[in-house]
Amino acid sequence: MSDLTLILLSAGESNRFKLPLKKQWLRVGHDPLWLFVTNRLKASGFFKKIIIAAHGDEVAFMRLYSNEQIVTGGENRQASLRHALEAVDTEFVMVSDIARACVDEALIERLIEHKGAADVIVPALSAVDTIVYQGETIERADVQRLQTPQLSKTALLREALKSDTLYTDESSAIVASGGTRLLIEGDEAAHKITFAEDLAKIPCLQPPARTTLSGNGFDVHAFEEGRTMVLCGVTIDSPFGFKAHSDGDVAIHALIDALLGAAGLGDIGMLFPDTDARYKDIDSAELLNVTFQKLRHFGFELINVDLTIIAQTPRLQNYKEAMRRRMSKLLNIPMGRVNIKATTTEHLGFIGRKEGVGVLAGATLNYFDWTQA
Ligand code: MG
Repeated sequence: MSDLTLILLSAGESNRFKLPLKKQWLRVGHDPLWLFVTNRLKASGFFKKIIIAAHGDEVAFMRLYSNEQIVTGGENRQASLRHALEAVDTEFVMVSDIARACVDEALIERLIEHKGAADVIVPALSAVDTIVYQGETIERADVQRLQTPQLSKTALLREALKSDTLYTDESSAIVASGGTRLLIEGDEAAHKITFAEDLAKIPCLQPPARTTLSGNGFDVHAFEEGRTMVLCGVTIDSPFGFKAHSDGDVAIHALIDALLGAAGLGDIGMLFPDTDARYKDIDSAELLNVTFQKLRHFGFELINVDLTIIAQTPRLQNYKEAMRRRMSKLLNIPMGRVNIKATTTEHLGFIGRKEGVGVLAGATLNYFDWTQA
């Protein structure tokens, strides 16, 4: 049985990445980057267990994709690592960053060959450029660039990370607490994705799958006197509005469910519970915006939406264009890809009796194509 655990750090905010998605969620085929990296390293068979440290908002969604242990990360790399280390029960631990996407098996093997030869084993690259430090050219042979993954003695790493100092890698923490560091040959291919431009330097990534994901949504709200009626973000001239915790925009609610459905992200009640006072009388356009940003963050792009508003009253014929315009703006896609239909139920049922309105929504998404970014 292996005495080695792999920790993969995936909790970063991607602040420097400058694309609409978080880098953890760019797709390689159908797989988000974090899953691609996990599966690639798992295939080596070297690890007793893999632990992934993830952003708290993403843990539940990630668990739908992977059976590995996923723990909630902290406010920075070191805090995330500390959390993940609590779940490690092996003598040795290897720590890598999801952004270091193309680490190959040969590098992992080199690290394992040296396991125990020092308190931490570190892949290092020499400097190829001239190095100037505080205005003075220095001997570049004296400079080494340290990479991850690094292989540490678990107990020593736990101890070293109790410090309040923020270290950029494990070896700096271990050395600062009196431990030993062994540098071994690194790997240029193990380049780290920090900026969007880095994607071109990552050799092992395939483009995202060219596919369409579809979702549907349905919602009904009853009429209530004395409220403003809003549908698709447009105010409708009507003596009554909708009974609801929010502003009651039943069309946007159905659409949010269609969007979440296509992305596999659950439903509107999970995202915006109607027991939460924050959503009392809220403008549903704001809820749509939050949903839309979430989809982008998880690596999806919107292709089109189609809504069918089922209402015996009020008459919506004259509002359809304004609704299209408003939705196109909210969703940042052309009006031609936002379809709004209105129909009645021929006086049948609760809608026919003019007790409320129902809306059906459909949406299609694809994966953000980072190869074109
Ligand atoms: Mg609703």
